[in-house]
Amino acid sequence: MNAAPQPIQIGKDATRAPLIDPFARQISYLRVSVTDRCDFRCVYCMSEDMSFLPKADLLSLEELDRVCSAFISRGVKKLRLTGGEPLVRRGIMTLFESLSRHLRSGALEELTLTTNGSQLAKYAAELKEHGVRRINVSLDTLDPDKFRDITRWGDLSRVLAGIDAAQAAGLQVKINAVALKGVNENEIADLVAWSHGRGMDLTLIEVMPLGDVGETRLDQYLPLSMVRSRLAERFTLDEIDYRTGGPARYVRVAETGGRLGFITPLTHNFCESCNRVRLTCTGTLFMCLGQEDAADLRTPLRASESDDALHAAIEAAIAHKPKGHDFVIDRRHARPALPRHMSVTGG
Ligand code: SAM
Repeated sequence: MNAAPQPIQIGKDATRAPLIDPFARQISYLRVSVTDRCDFRCVYCMSEDMSFLPKADLLSLEELDRVCSAFISRGVKKLRLTGGEPLVRRGIMTLFESLSRHLRSGALEELTLTTNGSQLAKYAAELKEHGVRRINVSLDTLDPDKFRDITRWGDLSRVLAGIDAAQAAGLQVKINAVALKGVNENEIADLVAWSHGRGMDLTLIEVMPLGDVGETRLDQYLPLSMVRSRLAERFTLDEIDYRTGGPARYVRVAETGGRLGFITPLTHNFCESCNRVRLTCTGTLFMCLGQEDAADLRTPLRASESDDALHAAIEAAIAHKPKGHDFVIDRRHARPALPRHMSVTGG
């Protein structure tokens, strides 16, 4: 049973209602794609010749702050900036800096990001100063050649230097790796040992059918149920209750002492406890990663300096949050389940 939601104090006198969807789920987690651009072109995420949005379509950093702050005033406690690659957006540290006021006020519990790590050596210390405590770094392989193939031109040594810098700055790092058939499937046990050896949790992700990337998903898709049973031949995987508020299910690896998460959108439906919504860099709010339902927040945002129209649009959107998604990859559905790429919605 959900406890009755309490109104949120937003000033001396005013309160705003928390955001509750039609299935009684309270929205407490906002993921924001701050740019659709990335310095890598991961084969499962983007096509090689991606076209990116014109700058005028993007929300400015001030507008992003306004939308995030509106959500925080409605009970969002966790904010994750993502992309594209969030650290390639010009001036992005000013957004972290301004959002950190909500951490200091106690309205926001966590400000975090998902990054490919390529710019971390430059920004890790500043992120820490702005109140970021934990970050997710995406890394699918420790082999420099394979890394270049997966990202189409990325330099593994830069990412590893970024991870070093993040840990040196005192950021807690979690590694996210997409399990890819025939690409990193024989390396996953080594990724577990490496991550845990450096005190980092590892989460494995199934490839999701988002966006046309010029390869069929059947070639990339590796069910995590299979990965898990192979890992169980080398490691003892003990079920644990640990949850981060996200969709990952965790085990403790007895031999390393580290945590290993599995995100299985295809083999396990994790929608029933979904507390999140996603904002794109153009101000479109997606209520579900796997559905097309979306709401335009940019128009109400730009329509007036008051946030009233924005709040009304957010409320109307949440009233339409669907119950769940239904990704399918099989021979009949070899095309993407959704035309938009992960870099648009924000992974
Ligand atoms: N650039 C940042 C990064 O690399 O983490 C943030 C954005 S990226 C889209 C976020 C995550 O989504 C990455 O871990 C990436 O591997 C994952 N991702 C992208 N496309 C995916 C897909 N089709 N299926 C599963 N994961 C995907």
